[in-house]
Amino acid sequence: MSHKLFDLTGRVALITGSSRGIGHAIAAGLAAAGATVVLNGRDPDRLESARAALGADAAAFDVTDEAQVTSAVAELAERHGGIDILVNNAGFQHRQPLLDLALADWEAVLRTDLTSAFVVGRAVAQGMIERRRGKIINICSVQTDLARPSIAPYTAAKGGLRNLTRAMTAEWAGHGLQVNGIAPGYFNTELTSALVADSEFSAWVTGRTPAGRWGAVADLVGPAVFLASDASAFVNGQVLFVDGGMTAVV
Ligand code: NDP
Repeated sequence: MSHKLFDLTGRVALITGSSRGIGHAIAAGLAAAGATVVLNGRDPDRLESARAALGADAAAFDVTDEAQVTSAVAELAERHGGIDILVNNAGFQHRQPLLDLALADWEAVLRTDLTSAFVVGRAVAQGMIERRRGKIINICSVQTDLARPSIAPYTAAKGGLRNLTRAMTAEWAGHGLQVNGIAPGYFNTELTSALVADSEFSAWVTGRTPAGRWGAVADLVGPAVFLASDASAFVNGQVLFVDGGMTAVV
């Protein structure tokens, strides 16, 4: 097996929510494998520092805003001659028990963590279908399969994202596109900073994870490069759990 299978030279990759955290690590990993990378986020200052540090391109837009997505994707396609790899990564959590949860908060999570993958995916897939090639990677979660109290909209969104991965495969695999997902376990990022700081919860994560530790964002690079590259040429509609074994054991 040749290492060229993992070579992303000449491919253009858009990673949503990549000004920090998991998205940024995946972007850096795809860039190291040769891809031309486009970072994304809403805060222009944070995005600019991330862009400058990586020597990448960047596009500030809100993945929940259809008009912003449409014009950003058109501009990027024009600038780079098409997008070959899309990582739907932008996401956030709202922690509240279901009985106290306002509809607006439910909808905000669904919009960011699920609907955005449809909106950005549809915009990018159009060009991929015309060129008959493209890779889409949806960042799911262990909450794709498992539920915990107080994060119901997140759990619903991530479960939906897993099935959206299958639905996109059903419609687009025949056009040369591959749509897969990565489901990370617990990773230390800004999203989880309150959980990391909670020593009881943090110990629960370590104990519940057969590998015996929290994930490090670098753990996601290999799986992302695999799913973005020719190495995964016949992998369609799958979700790869990168969780230290959390979902494999009870
Ligand atoms: P972070 O909060 O560290 O980073 C989130 C990124 O998304 C930032 O760059 C943020 O930038 C951007 N973002 C948020 N909302 C939007 C939006 N509406 N439009 C554009 N960009 C947006 O989160 P993580 O890196 O931890 O998480 C990344 C993904 O991984 C999420 O989908 C999350 O659900 C998933 N995940 C994370 C796990 C973990 O343990 N950390 C575990 C499993 C899954 P800005 O605020 O400037 O827009």
